[in-house]
Amino acid sequence: MSANSVALAYLVAAVLFILTLKGLSSPVTARRGNLFGMIGMAIAVLTTLSVTHNVAYILLAILIGGNIGWFVARSIQMTAMPELVAAMHSLVGLAAVLIAMSAFNNPVAYGIARAGEALHTSNRIELFIGTFVGAMTFTGSVIAFGKLSGKLGSRPLRFAGQHWLNLLLGVVIIVFGVIFYFVPGWTPFLIMTAIALLLGVLLIMPIGGADMPVVVSMLNSYSGWAAAGIGFTLNNNMLIIAGSLVGSSGAILSYIMCKAMNRAFFSVILGGFGGEAEAAAGDAVQRTYRSGSADDAAFMMGNADSVIIVPGYGLAVARAQHAINEMSKMLTEKGVRVRYGIHPVAGRMPGHMNVLLAEAEVPYEQVVEMDEINSDFADTDVVLVIGANDVVNPAAKTDPASPIYGMPILEAHKARTVLIVKRSMATGYAGLDNDLFYLDKSMMVFGDAKKVIEDISKALQH
Ligand code: NDP
Repeated sequence: MSANSVALAYLVAAVLFILTLKGLSSPVTARRGNLFGMIGMAIAVLTTLSVTHNVAYILLAILIGGNIGWFVARSIQMTAMPELVAAMHSLVGLAAVLIAMSAFNNPVAYGIARAGEALHTSNRIELFIGTFVGAMTFTGSVIAFGKLSGKLGSRPLRFAGQHWLNLLLGVVIIVFGVIFYFVPGWTPFLIMTAIALLLGVLLIMPIGGADMPVVVSMLNSYSGWAAAGIGFTLNNNMLIIAGSLVGSSGAILSYIMCKAMNRAFFSVILGGFGGEAEAAAGDAVQRTYRSGSADDAAFMMGNADSVIIVPGYGLAVARAQHAINEMSKMLTEKGVRVRYGIHPVAGRMPGHMNVLLAEAEVPYEQVVEMDEINSDFADTDVVLVIGANDVVNPAAKTDPASPIYGMPILEAHKARTVLIVKRSMATGYAGLDNDLFYLDKSMMVFGDAKKVIEDISKALQH
């Protein structure tokens, strides 16, 4: 392909990527957005292949990696998506580091230096930044993977002087960057890489509990910037554009998540934020609560004028989205006004509840975001909290010592009656007890979400 055709093809792919992001901004257009993304990526990959030497090696790598990706995507549970995403981000970071290393090792092969010439100074800066961001993304994502999958525990790990240590490491990295700029050698490069790997761990370790969604979107952003940095090294415009789109959309998502969690954007980027308080021990004090059956729940909802359903992570675990839609239809036929209240961090990934409800074909007009529905709880007869916990925990509003203090919640506690469907009195992701469960107006309905909802539907038929 001529240079002009390549530029044109990359431009088309870039426009398709922008249309992808636009499509993904609403559940109604998300499928179309995904399709644009796939077409754009196909154009980008084919164009790159057409101007690449040693295509056979690349095809072999695509075959192996593609098969692994295909297998993982088919077998992964929806509830394990966040850790999969974190694992993918770690691979992007690692790829950035490895490409930078091999480009530094043999710049002539990458076309960024002529034989016998030293690496150009601007390339040194690009290599340095790509490696630094990539290394941090790699180890940070590995830690995030460990926390999200429960292998490392979700609690924040902090120690005195952590921020000062991070600052010191940041300064040392810059010093080695300056040394690398003037005397490009392996020693400053490798020391900088090792420190950036350590910094990735230190930045993510102190974040945990209910603040993890911000980490996922933040690492998403970092991985994009790492890819863009490598795009500069390889002089590949497509990689620069795609990386910048991922980086900036991830940054915007982080900002939205920070707003949703009421956290300061910059303290997140610098690592470690949120309350210092420890999570409640859970079983320290025996408290009394009321519990009832699916029949009781059906009776209350069947006689209500208005019901708000608050779905959470347990809905995804139980795969109860279709059952809940069937139940909602029955209530609607009985003249009950049914809506869903969606918290931005409900579930385990941004938009998790929207995806599940869209899959079950819940009408979009029934799905209402937190800011819009919160003022309606006080006028609502029944709230059905299904597999949600942290996102309806009033401690976020009332208890300054709580680690989730300040995080906006769905104000289910303001409704006239609150029904809570879950399997036990166990805590949610943040490991906190929930006062909502012990209110006089609350009733626990114990059981797997899908089974309970099906039982409620049966009772509604009578
Ligand atoms: P939570 O994790 O707070 O609570 C989920 C509840 O679901 C649990 O208390 C559990 O109780 C119940 N549950 C689990 N399985 C079932 C089942 N099969 N049937 C019925 N109930 C079940 O979820 P929320 O959605 O309220 O909050 C999300 C949390 O996850 C927040 O802390 C958020 O910060 C965090 N997070 C969110 C991410 C995101 O991007 N959205 C990413 C990472 C973390 P029991 O065991 O008793 O059944």
